[in-house]
Amino acid sequence: MLLTPEIIPNAYTPPPRRLLGPGPSDISTRVLQALAKPTIGYLDPSFVGMMEELKTLLRYSFQTKNALTFPVSGPGSAGMEMCFVNMVNHGDKVIVCRNGVFGGRMVENVERCGGKAIVIDDVWGQAVSPQKVEDAFKQHPDAKVLAFVHAETSTGALSDAHTLCKIAQQYGALTIVDAVTSLAGVPVLVDEWGADAVYSGSQKCLSCTPGLSPITFNERAIAAVKARTQKCQSWFLDLNLLLGYWGETTRTYHHTAPTNSLYALHESLLVLQQEGLEQSWARHRSNHEALKAGLAVLDIHYVVDELARLPQLNAIHIPTGVDDKAVRAAMLQQHGIEIGAGLGALAGKIWRIGLMGYSSRVENVIACLGALEAVLVSQGYQCQQGRAVAAAYQSYAQQALV
Ligand SMILES: *Cc1c(COP(=O)(O)O)cnc(C)c1O
Repeated sequence: MLLTPEIIPNAYTPPPRRLLGPGPSDISTRVLQALAKPTIGYLDPSFVGMMEELKTLLRYSFQTKNALTFPVSGPGSAGMEMCFVNMVNHGDKVIVCRNGVFGGRMVENVERCGGKAIVIDDVWGQAVSPQKVEDAFKQHPDAKVLAFVHAETSTGALSDAHTLCKIAQQYGALTIVDAVTSLAGVPVLVDEWGADAVYSGSQKCLSCTPGLSPITFNERAIAAVKARTQKCQSWFLDLNLLLGYWGETTRTYHHTAPTNSLYALHESLLVLQQEGLEQSWARHRSNHEALKAGLAVLDIHYVVDELARLPQLNAIHIPTGVDDKAVRAAMLQQHGIEIGAGLGALAGKIWRIGLMGYSSRVENVIACLGALEAVLVSQGYQCQQGRAVAAAYQSYAQQALV
């Protein structure tokens, strides 16, 4: 007997939203339309040509000449895991910086690979301390790898990747850098830093569909992977096997590439190339400044000190007496705006307003401030009404003068 179907009458239609959380970010019509192009074979010569263009576009976004630069078929977490399963052997010491949720996941990865994690903790909301990293290397000069998160999405803190990579190099260690939220929002300069393995995500400042993880490995990292004596614990993420599909010479079946998602990534990277990296960074900064001006009027304060603040991820303290969940629900249901909740230790204490990629636009800053003010006022929050949006416009006007 076949099961009778439970009738679902309609196609799914998502409600209109402004995605101003920690990702995914809004996707432009241009990128969405790329998804609807006809699927072709992942070994079709035309598709293979598109793959080469993708690699070229990704090298620009990462500012690297690394030949091995490609999108992993999986979300940012898959890119993270690909770095660890290939670069950490049983018994390897790995110095891991933990100043938020994602650093914690790196520790998990090291341990699951049979490595020994030397964990350096920093206060959530602060950048990774280079001094602590240096001290850890002095104590553990045999550490093989340094791993850290460039832009901690859980707290909104930016760390000094250049300095951290240079410290690792002094001690002959490889670096694994999480650039999921930083790529295209703030400078990610892979070659200048000498970072060895760097991964990102498609759905943050690249504003593509979730589920792809751009990644890049330099020659040092590849040599370390090729010199492994133990088999990589993951078949799917084994770099040596994937080279057969994404490498320089061969194109053999490894897994079926997510063709249409890759069209979308190609389009979003083309958008980035056409805007220019520096212009993209400047746009993220500009919209952040305007949002910040509006939040200041609402007497809402940032979690992170000015110097380490991410423009694309605004982590702010929830004012006392305000109901976290009720505000986020009203923002979503009445205004169609998604903002992010706090994670882990910061749950219920902060909101995370993302202005990433295509979401980083004037109209979103204005809509968000207007809605937030209205919702807060409806909760009995005391503030000078009507001032937040005006302050944001004033910020834009001032920015235009300089
Ligand atoms: C979002 C994020 C990830 C995980 O990416 P997924 O695509 O959700 O797997 C990893 N690191 C950081 C810093 C992130 O912001």
